[in-house]
This record gives sequence, structure tokens and C-alpha cells, in this order.
Amino acid sequence: MTDHGKRSGDAATHHAIAIFGGTFDPVHYGHLRAAAEVAERLGVSDFRLLPAGQPPHRDSTWAPPRHRMAMLELALAPHADLSVDDREVQRSGPSYMADTLASIREQAGELPVVLCLGQDAANQLDRWHEWTRLIERAHLLVMTRPESEPEYSDEVARVLAGRWVEDPRALMDAPAGRICNVDVTCLAISSTDIRNQLARGRDPRFLLPSTVLAYIRKHGLYRDACGRAASPEA
Ligand code: ATP
Repeated sequence: MTDHGKRSGDAATHHAIAIFGGTFDPVHYGHLRAAAEVAERLGVSDFRLLPAGQPPHRDSTWAPPRHRMAMLELALAPHADLSVDDREVQRSGPSYMADTLASIREQAGELPVVLCLGQDAANQLDRWHEWTRLIERAHLLVMTRPESEPEYSDEVARVLAGRWVEDPRALMDAPAGRICNVDVTCLAISSTDIRNQLARGRDPRFLLPSTVLAYIRKHGLYRDACGRAASPEA
């Protein structure tokens, strides 16, 4: 246990903020299971799913921010240990994770901040705006998935060298600057596939919470969403 941690029963809870960013267009059980597993491994007191406002390297999202927020809130409603952070959707203009982390860092002071991202997103780290700032402002936790191998550019590998830790709990001993891999259960679910199913009139039940699916149907979301694949935030 570190200075940041306190014990309740068998689980240590660390005073730290973890952020899981994505477009969540819509949120599905792949995201939710990964979030739950990482939250458990880290044992942080504050785990937030953070929907992107206007992703800079994507034409647009399919559902506007208010719908993506509402779907996340429905999905997380039964889970008090997971919350939604709306700072990017409240901001106008493109959202850059480097700016988002600066604002979270202001709030966090010296507490550890952990940015959780999929291997696919991590592989494109040097496409992110001011990417070297990310590791100055937060730790990086890469959620590894079997279909996505690590493929870091020489420049990224150089910046990350010497920062790797084996145990995610080692992230709790410093405010930022370390990187760690965590294996998560791979559920072969993607928002693209769910949108395509909806646009084709198919039923994506059991791939996402039923409350989210009911919301999609109520608001007629993704009816025209066929054919465009999405890309991770860069
Ligand atoms: P899209 O199909 O629109 O690209 P997506 O399903 O990949 O969407 P995003 O909102 O782009 O979802 O993903 C946010 C984060 O969640 C990314 O870091 C991504 O790697 C991770 N992620 C997405 N799907 C899964 C999954 N099935 N299991 C674990 N992590 C996932």
C-alpha cells in the first residue's frame, strides 16, 4: 500500500483519477467490461469515462455529444464507482486530450492521474496533439487486446523508454510519467458494428446495455450510419 492508498476490506482504494476516453458512439459492453477490469486492477477512487467532444481526426461523430453523454449516463447509472466526465463535450471546438489532461491536472494537484487507452489508440500516440505532454500530465495505461499488437514508432518508443512499469499499482506512487500494460477481456464488440447493425435494421441486443439500446431507438439514432468506419482519437 502506498501513501495514497487506504484499505477497505481486501481492496486498496487509491486517491487517484483514472480517465477512459473515447467517442462512445454508442457505449457498449466492450468499453464497459474494459473499464470495470481496469478500475478493479488500479483500485482508484475516481474512475471516469470521458466522451470526446469533437474529435480532431474524425469528420464528426454520429450522435451529438448530448446523446453520447446520455447513453453513458444510462449505462453507468447502476455503477456508482464509475462516472462520466463531461468536460470535453462542454467545450466548443476540437477536443485535445493534452488540454483535457491539463485541466484534470489542475483539479488533481499532485494526485496520480491515469489515462487509459486501447492498444490501437496507443499505437498512434504520435498522431495525438502535443502527444509528449500526455505522459507529462498523466500516466498511460494501455489496455491490451489480442487483435492489436504494440506498434510504437521509434520516436514514441524513445520517449516511453525507462517509463514502463509491470504492476499498474506502481502508477499510484507518482502523479504522472509512467506507462503500463493491462490485459483486458477482449469482447469483439465495436461501436461501428453496432451502428451498422442499426442502420441495416438488425438488432444489436446483448452487445450494449438494454437501457442504451432503448434510448437509441427512442431517439432514432444511427439509422443512417452505414458504411463509415470510425478511427480512434489521435
Ligand atoms: P468505433 O467502432 O466507432 O471506432 P469503438 O467501439 O472502437 O468505436 P471508441 O469510443 O472509439 O469505441 O473507443 C474508446 C476506447 O475504448 C478506445 O481506447 C478503444 O481501444 C477501447 N475499446 C473499444 N472497443 C473495445 C472493446 N471491445 N474492448 C476493449 N476496449 C475497447
